[in-house]
Amino acid sequence: MIPASPFTPQPDWRIAWRNALTEPLPLLERLGLGHLAGQLLPAGDTGFPMRVPESYVRRMRHGDPTDPLLRQVLPGAAELVDRTGYVDDAVGDLAARRTPGVIHKYHGRVLLIATGACAVNCRYCFRRHFPYSEELAARERWRAALDYIASDASIGEVILSGGDPLALGTAKLAELTDGLARIGHVRQLRIHSRLPIVLPERVDNGLLAWLRALPWPVAVVVHANHGNEIDDEVGDVLLALRQAGATMLNQAVLLAGVNDDADVLATLSERLYGAGTLPYYLHLLDRVRGVGHFEVDAGTARQLHAALLARLPGYLVPRLVREIPGERSKTPL
Ligand SMILES: *Cc1c(COP(=O)(O)O)cnc(C)c1O
Repeated sequence: MIPASPFTPQPDWRIAWRNALTEPLPLLERLGLGHLAGQLLPAGDTGFPMRVPESYVRRMRHGDPTDPLLRQVLPGAAELVDRTGYVDDAVGDLAARRTPGVIHKYHGRVLLIATGACAVNCRYCFRRHFPYSEELAARERWRAALDYIASDASIGEVILSGGDPLALGTAKLAELTDGLARIGHVRQLRIHSRLPIVLPERVDNGLLAWLRALPWPVAVVVHANHGNEIDDEVGDVLLALRQAGATMLNQAVLLAGVNDDADVLATLSERLYGAGTLPYYLHLLDRVRGVGHFEVDAGTARQLHAALLARLPGYLVPRLVREIPGERSKTPL
């Protein structure tokens, strides 16, 4: 995508946000799968509603109940199965919370929960039980978070996370980065966002202009799990982010029935590279209550990773990691 001139009208991404599908039955009917309605859960049973933007639905295969994109977002009875070892806060976020909205686990970098809002509810979300409503930053009050970062000179990198940080309007984001720019020891900004993948409309001229004007090296880490998520529109959006100066990386989660296959993972890496984006992490699933049906065991994960090493250039092979609470970094397998 050639960055459009400032006068090109663009549809407001907030309209696309509001038009997300929130009811499973209309989603199934759209995909020609209405006959599966009997298998749906009564609304609200999982405590984590369905939410899928229209553009993401357009990338699903018609008539295929095993579609890898559909599987990531359709609520199912499997989520109600309790399994031992699957807990609400699998990654120790609450213990690492320094002040509302700030999670500081690793040396030199902090996660700033910029907002609890997200455009898509991924069924495997590791923060599906996270008490966002208690996060002050989620209510867009940054003061305490900025004070915390300012008080620790070892923090060189701030990672905007969520929810999804790009759920905030660009003016709000600018308010936040203006505050960070006043902290001398912050040298790098990172943005962890799935919106360029699930709601590419979000990447508009205003966002690109904000990105271009930031005073630090910026990395945007998107989150795609399957090559089908990267159609031409998403590819153009990733390239536009790169043209705006961001280093583009992707993190994926290894998910049973979605991407636990060497061909699928290799294709994902190649599609990402075609869109100017390198694979960064391939995460083992965090053991959050309600997601056990997505688990891929460590042995299978290692085999898949070895298969990628055997067929792709090294820079297209993501690091296979898991998160162990209390460790000083993500743990390589
Ligand atoms: C994963 C994570 C990071 C980022 O780790 P990197 O290895 O630098 O990508 C930072 N803070 C928290 C709390 C995290 O969970």
